[in-house]
Amino acid sequence: MLRIIAKWWGKLSYRWKHEVDAAKDDLNAGLALVLAKGREEEVKEAFADADRIKEHIAQEMKALEEGYWECEDGHRPHKEELTPSDSEGKFRCVKDCGKDVRYLKMSELTGKDKYEIEKELKDARTVEENKRQFAEGKKKEVENGHATAEHFKGRASNNREVSDRLKDL
Ligand SMILES: [Zn+2]
Repeated sequence: MLRIIAKWWGKLSYRWKHEVDAAKDDLNAGLALVLAKGREEEVKEAFADADRIKEHIAQEMKALEEGYWECEDGHRPHKEELTPSDSEGKFRCVKDCGKDVRYLKMSELTGKDKYEIEKELKDARTVEENKRQFAEGKKKEVENGHATAEHFKGRASNNREVSDRLKDL
């Protein structure tokens, strides 16, 4: 009698352990998927940011090829919006600020302007590249998260299989 009860109890407690482990495995798989989902959003955002920066750089490059007027505050008035040049031959912005305006064109850039603009473009490209690297890193984490979820799903399935086999012993 005692042996029958012991066997029944032993089987039950052994099966119980595998069922609890399977439940934990399901939770771990679910958690890995939730974390991966959050990172997927970060990946999307970072790639979108990088694309926006890339587009902005392209726009700036195009504007620089064509040439434009820009004041110290960053306004870009059309030629007809500029005040007549003063005695020194300088134009001023008419968009309230009245600041000095300079003409920027890639083929005509020299000295400080050339250096500053090339530095700005280089910095922007670095930010774009960093965004892409960040996104690639997060993408890897998402892939790892899915692999982790699959691993736990496999373990849950194994634990349930063992529990089912024990039932028939
Ligand atoms: Zn201005």
